[in-house]
Amino acid sequence: MSMIAENLKNVQNRINAVDTKKQVTLIAVSKTKPASDLQQAIDAGQLHFGENYLQEALDKIEALKGQNLIWHFIGPIQSNKTKQIAENFSWVHSVDRLKIAKRLNDQRPENLEKLNVLLQVNIDNEPTKSGVLIDEIDEIIPHFENFQNISLRGFMCIPNPDNSQQSFAKMAKILQKNPDLDVLSMGMSADLELAIENGATFVRIGSDIFGKRA
Ligand SMILES: *Cc1c(COP(=O)(O)O)cnc(C)c1O
Repeated sequence: MSMIAENLKNVQNRINAVDTKKQVTLIAVSKTKPASDLQQAIDAGQLHFGENYLQEALDKIEALKGQNLIWHFIGPIQSNKTKQIAENFSWVHSVDRLKIAKRLNDQRPENLEKLNVLLQVNIDNEPTKSGVLIDEIDEIIPHFENFQNISLRGFMCIPNPDNSQQSFAKMAKILQKNPDLDVLSMGMSADLELAIENGATFVRIGSDIFGKRA
């Protein structure tokens, strides 16, 4: 078995070991890694991939096409990148303002299924991180009713590691307040168990699958 296949199995075992009622989907975060590494994960059964940088993502999407992969955009979004994101991804986790949501909606090709989007929440109110603040969420959500080509599914966060337990719990409360939504994208290599215990439905795992990034 390849190292990547072995790592993937270990991560899946860690996920399965957490007692939870919700189904958890593993997203393999492959930023900076070559298509050949992703192919090893695909050969081991992995279908969901998360990418942060548009150009390198597009290269890999093209190189790996025809394998029914599900691509998640998880990085910061500049307005001039929304068209290619809308055309090439199934999920976007990092929607942090309505302007970006509107552009993704307007630019989603008609022949594709609705683009699934998550609202990124700056759960610890950190000036260095993007995302909407907790107090802004209730005002933003109703606007998504105007968007026919995207579907708001839930929330994503990148908590401060110093208090991730509390932050994950806050995210769970936010989802509870919005019973129409069903996705919480939280948990990375270091804290996936804690995230799942607090209700994560997507975990985004990079280094524990593909090794450290340069
Ligand atoms: C890189 C990245 C991850 C994966 O982090 P690891 O610690 O390598 O598992 C998850 N989410 C986002 C948004 C990332 O940028």
